[in-house]
Order: sequence, then C-alpha cells, then structure tokens
Amino acid sequence: MKIKSVTAIPIDLKLKEPFSIANETVDIGENVFLKIETDEDIVGWGCATPDSVTSETKETVVNCFNNVIKDILIGENPLRINYITDIIEEKVKGNPSLRAGINMALYDVIGKKANLPLYKLLGGYKEKIETSVTIGLNPVDNMVDKAKFFVSEGFTCLKIKCGMDADQDIEVVLAIRNAIGPDIKIRLDANEGYTLEKALRVIETLEKLGADIEMLEQPTPAKYLYALKEVTAQCPVPIMADETALTLRDSLKLVKMEIADMINIKLMKIGGITNAIKANTFAEIAEIPVMAGCMNESMAAMAAGVHFACAFKNVKYADLDSALDFEQDVVKGGARYEKGFVIPSDKPGLGIEVDL
Ligand code: MG
Repeated sequence: MKIKSVTAIPIDLKLKEPFSIANETVDIGENVFLKIETDEDIVGWGCATPDSVTSETKETVVNCFNNVIKDILIGENPLRINYITDIIEEKVKGNPSLRAGINMALYDVIGKKANLPLYKLLGGYKEKIETSVTIGLNPVDNMVDKAKFFVSEGFTCLKIKCGMDADQDIEVVLAIRNAIGPDIKIRLDANEGYTLEKALRVIETLEKLGADIEMLEQPTPAKYLYALKEVTAQCPVPIMADETALTLRDSLKLVKMEIADMINIKLMKIGGITNAIKANTFAEIAEIPVMAGCMNESMAAMAAGVHFACAFKNVKYADLDSALDFEQDVVKGGARYEKGFVIPSDKPGLGIEVDL
C-alpha cells in the first residue's frame, strides 16, 4: 500500500459557550483535519488541535504540513507507521499536535486495513472508560448549575477548573459537592495557578470539610519542577502533572524524579499514539497511572484518545469530553457516552465519518 495524497483542512469549531481556565479563555476550537489517501482506496483521518500550551497555531501546523510532512508521506507505505513516525520525529521540531494528527491518521488506515477498531488493534484491554466532564471557571452559581446538569446527564465524575482565586475555589467546590451528593467523583485542575502554599491550603481545607477530592491536576507552574514535587510529597490527595508533562522526555523526567503521582497524557502534547504508548509503558513500570486527556479537540482527535485509553490497563483515568463542547462538529461516530463512560466505536480504525 502507498500513500497517494495528503491534505490539511483547518476548521474552527465554535464552542457552545466560552471556556475559561486559570490562564486563558477560548470560544473556538482550532482543529486542522488531516486526510491520508492510499492507492488501495483506504482513507485515513486524523486531526491536529494546536494550543498555546504546545506553542502552536493553526498557521505553524499548516506551514509545517506543507513544507515538511507532505514530502515525508507521499509514496510511503502507511503500514510502516513506526518508520514514518521516526522520520517525522527526527525532522519536525515542535508542532506535536501535527505529529499527533498524522500518527492517528496512519493508525486509522492500519485499523481499516486490518478491519479492526483501533483500541482492539492496540491490545484492547477494556471496552470503555469512565470520563470526567470539565466545568470551566465561572461565577459560583453558574458552575453549580453546570455540575447539576452534567450529573443529570449521567456523568459520574466532574473536573472542576480552579487556580484563579483560592477562596472562591474552596467555595465553588463545597457548593458543588453539596449540590451533587457524595457519590460523584470530583477532581480539580488548577492549570498552574497556585503556589505550593495555596495548593496545600485549598486541598487541606476541602478535605477537612469533607469535599472528598479524587486528585489535583497541575497545581503549580510547569517550569517549577521542585514545587510540584513538594506539593506531591505534602498533599493529602494525589497530584497529576499536565502542563509539566509536554514531551516524551518531560514525562520520563517526571517518572524518574518522582515529581507527580499521575500523568495526564494528551496526544496533542506528546505527538501521537506511538509516543503515548511509550510514555504509558514507562509510567506503568514505575507504577504511575496515566490519564488520557484532550485539548479543544474535534471528535476526530478525541476518538483517538478514547481508543488509546481503552487499549491499555495503566490508562486508569480519562478526561475525554471535548467533543461535547462544540455547537457542531464535522465528525460522526468515533466514540459515544453512556452513564459516565466513553465508549470507542467498534468500526475499523478510529470509526469516524468526516463530513468535509
Ligand atoms: Mg489540565
């Protein structure tokens, strides 16, 4: 099999409402769809979701695609994914979301060729995974209403954004816990917004008042590794690294230096499924569980995260909810939600249909 043509199609997907975290507010999800056509009429789809966290824009992605990626792919056999990925890793610096989009499109081709859904092709450890749904920063009442809405929709785990104002964070989390009862999981994500002292004060106060927090994600700035290590050592709830774990090398450093209890692996940060599998493998050996997370990803990309999450035992957590946030996606299939779980499609490859 040979790759005949590759295309990049940037699409801005409008969010249902603006989404705020400790360091930014966005109202669209920038997605660059990637299409690989082969001489066997198998078409593979992937999607890059550039983000400020990875220092990318859709322009950097499209430029790199046109100037570097196209030449690497045309005429190549897509079944040699490890070879192609290696060449791309060597020639493309930065642009991890583009590398991720190409890698998942190649896996889509391979899944279709093998007539297997991707999670089964990768080893199929489980058929579904519980996912959190994320509540962005907003006035307290609004966040409580969101929490009640998601629980009424069947979700069993909420991820609450925090990190702007420690006192308000405590107030919001207690109000949400009070509104949804004891059985729903609550995890927090400060997106680098706390100091060591603030993180400890928020969590210790919440634990004392019975808020029962499952985990705290990225409390302190990504560049201060020892602050994060110290929160991990002192905090009574598990700490997950996200912004600190950008690249494969970052993830290895985190594991070796025992900086966090868990790692949030996003395909868009780490550069695709091939790299995510490597990071998950060394994390598993070090007994560090992994979460599969997402950016503002179209279902095309998010589905790849769901397939990755379900393929491996050590991916114990998921925060795969971005496809719920758009007014309208251009993708059908891929994954569906049921009673708090996200379930990958059983169709071959990513199991998506793209209307472009
Ligand atoms: Mg995060």
